[in-house]
Amino acid sequence: MITFVGAGPGDPDLITLKGQKKLAQADVVVYAGSLVNPEILQHCREEATIYNSASMTLEEVLVVMIEAYKANKKVVRLHTGDPSIYGAIREQMDELDIQGIPYKVVPGVSSFLAASATLKREFTLPGLSQTVIITRQAGRTAVPEKESLRLLAQHGTSMCIFLSTHKIEEVVAELIQGGYDQNTPAAVVYKASWPEEAKVVGTLETIAKQVREAGFTKTSMILVGPFLEGPYERSMLYDPTFSHGFRKGTESRE
Ligand code: SAH
Repeated sequence: MITFVGAGPGDPDLITLKGQKKLAQADVVVYAGSLVNPEILQHCREEATIYNSASMTLEEVLVVMIEAYKANKKVVRLHTGDPSIYGAIREQMDELDIQGIPYKVVPGVSSFLAASATLKREFTLPGLSQTVIITRQAGRTAVPEKESLRLLAQHGTSMCIFLSTHKIEEVVAELIQGGYDQNTPAAVVYKASWPEEAKVVGTLETIAKQVREAGFTKTSMILVGPFLEGPYERSMLYDPTFSHGFRKGTESRE
């Protein structure tokens, strides 16, 4: 059996129980070494064969996984965070489908969620934002023009910008061109959930300088939006006057 597992954002305790069990049973593990915390490999058996995919091509990864599968071995392909976000998992699954090889996916805690936990913030606040945009600045991988930061900024909602901290000046310029006020709160979290985790919190006007001073480049998440600071409305769910399927309130309100 081949299982793709989300390793979580860094802290080895942030893998799911299911993912940990799969790792503990695996004969072969192929992990994304550029981002997965190697400490998570402590969950593996000593006899397990471990490959670091950082220096491998898609073809090489597939050969390792498929040969192990054919030899009746248990394989874990370990991705950082959740594999469905910038994980390059689809191209692997499609090839396994073509070859008729079964596999499962165990989700993981994505780094954008570890970042909100670090900051102790909620992305979706009543009266403020009910949408979270996950995006990135174009790099070697292009971003479709209709998804440019400038256009996404028009929504004024909560944004998580992956893979872009090294281009923070460009990110800020596009967001402001797109309509965010320069006083919009912004934060960058470096290595959320790792022992060396760090953060800077400011506004679009200040954040680029703060990031440069802190020296964050890789493994950091840019968060932007009014959810970081400022007023919001309390929730209907816990409003004493509001009834719902699990609780009768003092008066019903739409
Ligand atoms: N699949 C992963 C993302 C892989 S892309 C996930 O779900 O989190 C790699 C990018 O993710 C990095 O450039 C950075 O923007 C972000 N990232 C990964 N781990 C992080 C962490 N612990 N803290 C902050 N950002 C992180």
